[in-house]
Parts: sequence; structure tokens; C-alpha cells
Amino acid sequence: MPDAIKRAVYDRDGGRCSYVDDRGNRCPETGFLEFDHIAGFARTHVHDVNAIRLLCRAHNQHAANQLYGRTFMEAVLNRSQ
Ligand SMILES: [Zn+2]
Repeated sequence: MPDAIKRAVYDRDGGRCSYVDDRGNRCPETGFLEFDHIAGFARTHVHDVNAIRLLCRAHNQHAANQLYGRTFMEAVLNRSQ
């Protein structure tokens, strides 16, 4: 990922995890931040500031589980048809 895009995403999100929970509370984590491709980099292969967000390690894992977990389930369901 180009440094310019990393810097733009970091500045936009204020150097803080961008995860917001069901009650609208934003995660306060500012350490161990990772860049998360909202649509999944494996799917888009495009570096777009609007498609990237800062997430702490825990929430990046959480998002990956949701995204790839669902894809995995779809694959399993399609196979069984
Ligand atoms: Zn977080």
C-alpha cells in the first residue's frame, strides 16, 4: 500500500481504530492499528482511501471473521446444492 494512502487514511481516522459498535461508541484504541480494506483486499485489489480504514488488531480480526466467515459459508452452501 502506498505511503500517501496510509497517511491519508491515518489522518482521516485520527490515528484511532474506526470501529463503531451497535450503540455508536467508537473504539478508543490508538495502538496496534492495522489498515483494513473494507471490501476485502483479496476481492478488489485496489488501494482506495475510501475503501480503507484503521482498525485495532482485535477489530481487524473481528471484521475478517465476519467477511471471510460469510464467504466460507456461502461456498459451503453452494457446494451442497
Ligand atoms: Zn478497535
